[in-house]
Order: sequence, then structure tokens, then C-alpha cells
Amino acid sequence: MLNLTKASITLNGLGRGLLAEKRFSAAKLISRGLVCAEHVDDSGNNEVYDVIISGGGMVGSAMACALGMHPNLSDKKILLLEAGNKKVMDQVPDSYSTRVSSISPGSAALLSDIGAWEHITKMRCKPYKKMQVWDACSDALITFDKDNLEEEMAYIVENDVVVAALTKQLDALSDNVRVKYRSKVVTYTWPMPHQAVRSMPWVQIRLSSGETLQTKLLIGADGPNSMVRRQLGIPTVKWNYDQSAVVAVLHLSEPTENNVAWQRFLPTGPIAMLPLSDTESSLVWSTSHHLAEELLAMDDECFVDAINSAFWSNENQSELVEKAGSLFRSALSAVMPSTGSPRQLPPSVAGIGPKSRVMFPLGMGHASEYIRHRVALIGDAAHRVHPLAGQGANLGFGDVACLTQLLSQAAFNGKDLGSTQHLLEYESERQRHNLPMMAAIDLMKRLYSTNTAPVVLLRTFGLQATNMLPTLKVSPIAPHANLSDPCSASALFCDDT
Ligand SMILES: Cc1cc2nc3c(=O)[nH]c(=O)nc-3n(C[C@H](O)[C@H](O)[C@H](O)COP(=O)(O)OP(=O)(O)OC[C@H]3O[C@@H](n4cnc5c(N)ncnc54)[C@H](O)[C@@H]3O)c2cc1C
Repeated sequence: MLNLTKASITLNGLGRGLLAEKRFSAAKLISRGLVCAEHVDDSGNNEVYDVIISGGGMVGSAMACALGMHPNLSDKKILLLEAGNKKVMDQVPDSYSTRVSSISPGSAALLSDIGAWEHITKMRCKPYKKMQVWDACSDALITFDKDNLEEEMAYIVENDVVVAALTKQLDALSDNVRVKYRSKVVTYTWPMPHQAVRSMPWVQIRLSSGETLQTKLLIGADGPNSMVRRQLGIPTVKWNYDQSAVVAVLHLSEPTENNVAWQRFLPTGPIAMLPLSDTESSLVWSTSHHLAEELLAMDDECFVDAINSAFWSNENQSELVEKAGSLFRSALSAVMPSTGSPRQLPPSVAGIGPKSRVMFPLGMGHASEYIRHRVALIGDAAHRVHPLAGQGANLGFGDVACLTQLLSQAAFNGKDLGSTQHLLEYESERQRHNLPMMAAIDLMKRLYSTNTAPVVLLRTFGLQATNMLPTLKVSPIAPHANLSDPCSASALFCDDT
């Protein structure tokens, strides 16, 4: 029997009569055009949302917060769907979680605007002031800092902390944003752009529970294997790298100020040590699948030895490259005032957190279209990158800032939020920003995945020259997406100073 809620059911006269007489099912009424489809679903619920966000990871949750808090969108019905459980954190666990992100100041500004940064800083986050990146096959290195270590370069935050802070903020929002946890979407049905309003104007969403929902705009934030993207048949350029990332929580051998992010390029891939506290750091070691499996299988002691050796050993350096590099450095210092920063060694590791070793296969992916009629993709659903530049989530937060700005403008001008016009603007602004960044990250991955002498020499000269020329020096890790101008194309490898 059709169960219609009061609010917005639209029946014509005949439909109303048939409904009153209980002679027709909802489906029959819709098929005969007696009820507007947008107001009824199979279960009889009246669930038409202005915006549904599918996927409540870091990026989807930030999107829900940003839309829910924007004054131009206060009268919109917004829903966030997440397959997993609610991530609450009344108390931060004693041990650090293995999944962390380097959050750029631009992303921190966005999270601050939507009220989540305050929760993050109260929970747990570690700023760092300097970064050293160096080559295991030569003496070349580059360092980055801001204003002589006066300012933070970026922040290392556990992914769970980011989501828990956004969840806290979502809980505090008024009724216009709802969140449904443990709600896995199983099918989407797409409206045709020219379909008559009466047949099926909105995106329909079916959950694994059988419930169906409808929305005027669907935002796909459902990660790298996005079902939204796949069901729309959006062509995607993607490939798997010949690498997996092993992540772990590291205990340092002695307390230090620990405000430097370290990354060394080994021929098998980059290894990074990111500060968490005075005594702990987070490891992201991208390496061949084979070595990654070996690292996972090792006992703790061997694993710790392997990490220390990966940061300290000079076994990959060749005499020829070393000589050429030192000649080039002397030639440069003869003509340049700055000699660049001296090389420092990272702290040594004494142990790892209990059960903290996890491995992730790495890949790159880019959706050739970020939008379709009434649909937009954000975060890893639209683009996936190698973690060597610590950019994945930052790019996603850039999408959030850009789309929020365009949707709030559309709402202010009384426009349909699902209209292709402003969605196209979102697509072109973000692709203009994301594509060069993705190409640079991929190039860097390839350039550093070899120990062939000419390539090593080339990158050694490049890195040395850049390190000595402050004006050329721009950060390769966590470059700061400029979210105060989120649609700008200028964030490729540049600071947001
Ligand atoms: C080793 C490693 C290190 C990294 N380091 C950094 C870093 O330092 N800095 C940085 O910026 N980025 C980093 N990244 C990248 C970053 O982790 C990702 O870019 C980011 O997590 C993507 O967030 P997302 O919300 O787009 O997707 P996801 O985190 O994948 O979230 C997708 C969400 O959608 C939900 N979902 C999926 N399908 C459905 C469905 N059918 N129905 C309902 N819900 C669904 C999932 O449950 C999930 O919660 C790193 C990545 C790796 C692998």
C-alpha cells in the first residue's frame, strides 16, 4: 500500500482519487503519470534531497560539512551516505593509527572554516617546519622550510582524527544535513538530461537495505573504486604502479624536537618518515610488491633494521655520480651565494607500534570527466595519486572548496544545483589544477625509480641547482593547495605564502 508523507507529494486530481480509494500502487501511479516520480520511492518514502554525497571518507565528510555550513545553502536538504560505521572519538586512543596524511596549510584553512580544525588540534596533530628530500643514489638533496623555521610547513594528522573531527562537526549542524552510516549504495539510476519532469527527473539511489532515495545533485566521494564513476561509465585513465606502500608507526630511539619530514628516494621507491610526536613518527615506504611483502613478514627487529638502513645506507651510490655531483656543486657554489642547506640524518628508529604494519597497492587514476548531468565527482573518486607528494587528500579538499563556492553561488542566484552549467565550471577549474599536479607526481615517481647513471646524474644536477636557488625552490611534498583561491591553477608545487 502506498505510504505517502505529507510534505511534497504531487498528485493530479485523478491520482488523488485513486490513492484515496487505495486502488493503485505507487509504481502504477508513477507509470501512468498520476504522481510526479520525484516525490515517491518504492518504499513509499518521500525522500528527495537537494544534494546527496555518496561516501563519507575525509573528502565526502568535508563536503557535507562545507555545504551544510554555508549560509546560501541553509534551506537545502543534504544527505551524506557512508557504508562504514560512525567514527566517533570521545577520547583519542593512546596509540597512533597507521593511516596519516600530510595536511597542507590550505587544507587546514578549509577545515578551520568548517569548524573541524579546532577539533583536530584538540585531538591530535603534529605540525612540521622543515622537509628534507634526498637521493639514495647520490649526495643530492633539497630542503624546504618557511621563514627560517618560524612557520609550519604542513601538519601530520591521522585520517581517523580528520574523519572524527568532521563527524563531530556534522553532529553539531542543524537539521539540513543528515548522515546515514552503514548505508551502502548498490545502484544508481540516472535521469536523462532531456527527460520530462514527470517521468524521472532526479538521480535515484538504492541502498543495500532496499531503501531508495532521490537527489537533485549527487556528489560521488566514494573513493578510488568509485561506483558512481563506474556506473556512469566515465572513461578513466588509470594504471597500477609496480609498488605498494608499507605504513607503520615508528618509535624513535630517543626523544627529539621531531619537526622535520624526511623522504629519501631509493631505487625501489621513496621512504618517508613523518613526525607524530617527540618520540614517534609515521612510516610510508613505497617499494616493490615483493619487498613490501617481505617487509610485512619480517620480525620487528629486522623490520626496524631495514628502515634504518634504508635511511642511512650509501650502498646505492656510485663513485662516478658522486664525483660528478661534487664537481657540479663546487661549480655552482663558485657562482652562487647560497650553498644550500647541509644534509642532516633522520632520527634512528628503535621499534614499531604493535600490529601497526599495513600494506597498500599503489596506483594512479584520473576520470576524464568529473561531472555528468546532476552528478559531480570529488576526491579519489575523480583522481588518485602516488603518495610520494602527500597530495591525495589535499587535492580532494581543493575539490570541496571549489564545488562549495560554485554551488553556493548557484543557490544564491536561484539556480538548479544539479545544472550542468556550474558543474562544468567546477570540472574545468579542478582539472586545470589537478592534471598538472598529477603529471608532475607521476614524472617524479618515474624519474626516481631508476639507478641508471645518466638519469641519476640528471636528477642530481637538477636537485643540487634547485637547492641552491631559493627562488626555484618549491615544495615537492605537500605543496599547499591554495584554498583561499581554490579554483586557481597556481598550486602546482608552490607554497601558499
Ligand atoms: C600510503 C598512503 C599515504 C597517503 N598519504 C597522504 C598524505 O600524506 N597526504 C594526502 O593528502 N593524501 C595522502 N594519501 C591519499 C589519501 O589517503 C586519499 O587521497 C584520501 O583518503 C581520499 O579520500 P576520499 O574521501 O576521496 O576517499 P576514501 O578515503 O576512499 O573514502 C571513500 C568513502 O566512501 C565510502 N564508500 C565507498 N563506496 C560506497 C558505497 N557504495 N556506498 C556508501 N559508501 C561508500 C567508503 O566506505 C569510504 O568511507 C595517501 C594515500 C596512501 C595510500
